[in-house]
Amino acid sequence: MIFKINGLTLSVGEREELLSARAASLLGLPVGAVTDLRVIRRSIDARRARPPHFVYLVTVRLPDGIPFSVDKTAAGLTVTEETDIPVESQTAPSAKYFPAPKQRPVVVGCGPAGLFASLTLAERGISVLLLERGKAVPDRLTDVRSFWDKGILNPESHVHFGEGGAGTFSDGKLTSRVKNPHTGRVKRIMADMGAPADILIDARPHIGTDRLREVVMNLRGRLREAGCEVRFGSQVTDFIIHRGRLTGVVVNDSEEIRTDRLILAIGQSADDTYRKLAENGVSLEPKPFAVGLRVEHPQEVINRLQYGRWAGHPDLPPADYFLTAKIKEMDRSVYSFCMCPGGRVIGCSAWPGGVITNGMSSFLRDSPYANSAVVVNVRIEDLGSEGPLAGLAFRRHWEEQAFLSGGGDYCAPVQRLTDFLAGKEGDPVVRTSFLPGVRQAELKGVLPPFVSAAMKSGFAEFERKMPGFITKEAVLFGVETRTSSPVRIIRDETVQSVTTTGLFPCGEGAGYSGGIISSALDGIRAAEQLVISLGSSCSGEHRG
Ligand SMILES: Cc1cc2nc3c(=O)[nH]c(=O)nc-3n(C[C@H](O)[C@H](O)[C@H](O)COP(=O)(O)OP(=O)(O)OC[C@H]3O[C@@H](n4cnc5c(N)ncnc54)[C@H](O)[C@@H]3O)c2cc1C
Repeated sequence: MIFKINGLTLSVGEREELLSARAASLLGLPVGAVTDLRVIRRSIDARRARPPHFVYLVTVRLPDGIPFSVDKTAAGLTVTEETDIPVESQTAPSAKYFPAPKQRPVVVGCGPAGLFASLTLAERGISVLLLERGKAVPDRLTDVRSFWDKGILNPESHVHFGEGGAGTFSDGKLTSRVKNPHTGRVKRIMADMGAPADILIDARPHIGTDRLREVVMNLRGRLREAGCEVRFGSQVTDFIIHRGRLTGVVVNDSEEIRTDRLILAIGQSADDTYRKLAENGVSLEPKPFAVGLRVEHPQEVINRLQYGRWAGHPDLPPADYFLTAKIKEMDRSVYSFCMCPGGRVIGCSAWPGGVITNGMSSFLRDSPYANSAVVVNVRIEDLGSEGPLAGLAFRRHWEEQAFLSGGGDYCAPVQRLTDFLAGKEGDPVVRTSFLPGVRQAELKGVLPPFVSAAMKSGFAEFERKMPGFITKEAVLFGVETRTSSPVRIIRDETVQSVTTTGLFPCGEGAGYSGGIISSALDGIRAAEQLVISLGSSCSGEHRG
């Protein structure tokens, strides 16, 4: 017999070993009767009505025939009898039989979408050529450090470009609102590649930049073992398209590679590649996105606001938050995004002359700061043009304002939250986690006026929901622009470009995902569709 029990709780300080006894008592069994208990999901309930506590979904397996009686008076708990423990899919289900590709498929971009697309194809026996314009993790790390330490930007090797894509220097949060049967499999593969096993059960899983670098390098190893070729420093600079069919790509303006199937997983920061797609007549459209600032508090402030007197308890992780505000009179939404507890705010410039902020943390989330983006939705009509690339120009403009306002050396313009709200430059900011450095400024100058107005109302609403959020200790950084792609590469249900057969745009840059997990899932989807397209384009030999 297998039971699924949802809602078992542990107080702060209680050990997970107690779960078996709690489950036994719930089923009317003696302590010790439950020996086979599996944690499926673990979350923290830090709503202020009760002290913070851990909530579990578990399965319990009992020998058949054992007498039990479920305690129906136990509040907040559900017990269901299961026929079997669900097993996550181990391989990418896809068309079972398909002809071998005549030409080697090419995958462009070594972020989550490109890596998981390549892996899915490799599992089907299709060894791809994976092209990445940036560098492998160790060399990339050197360039990113040089940017953070000395403000020297390498436009081809930075926080957005290189092995692992944009998520390599991140918090490595693996939360996603997408419901997809492959989510568990993606996490399992990450755990096999070196991610902490807790990601398999935590409701808000997180890897940390340190462990994530290891994961992506191991994934590369797995791809090479499966016969894939991974080339760094290989930028796709042009697309060869003949009568609406992709026939190849040009790499680094010099080498022509023939292929009739290309998975394009370029992320959202390759403005030049978007332009090249537009020049080649590939159908693109502008897409709504969001811009704003990053806010940093001392972590102990957020812990105190979320955990109350339990703040600082060694069993509690650094607290996070998710806040939203609807500003009715402006018809805008303001929301916190990509929160990094125990992390740092980082300079993520992607082009010479622009300042972009984002957040990153290590696995331990042990920095004394908590940061989050606070952003406002941007509509297509805000962009000043309906051209497909209008959003790229829009965000560049504000990134340039942030660069100038920060002094023109990649320092971020900063201001205390209280001063931003009071509309004055205010007191100097003394300490932040930001790399490469900060300069005092008035941040309303680095934001579209509607964004800065909406943010002011948004912060007031945040304060109502989380009293103490507005404090002199909170610092704002400009400017947060890379929440999601401002461009969509239009594709059909076969995941191919509507104008170009054989071109499979996917991941964040195509406008169909945002975040590590959803981009990985979209890469898997593109790979599955590529496999299906092999079956539909010819009827030759079949293989399983
Ligand atoms: C600092 C930071 C922190 C983040 N934190 C989180 C987080 O905690 N959790 C989360 O879920 N998401 C986070 N994100 C977002 C997440 O990283 C992205 O959503 C995700 O990486 C998108 O995956 P992707 O594969 O679609 O694109 P990317 O990861 O952007 O990868 C695209 C790759 O394509 C390459 N490329 C581009 N153009 C070309 C070309 N012409 N030729 C060859 N190669 C090319 C790029 O160099 C890049 O490596 C963060 C992003 C940043 C920048």
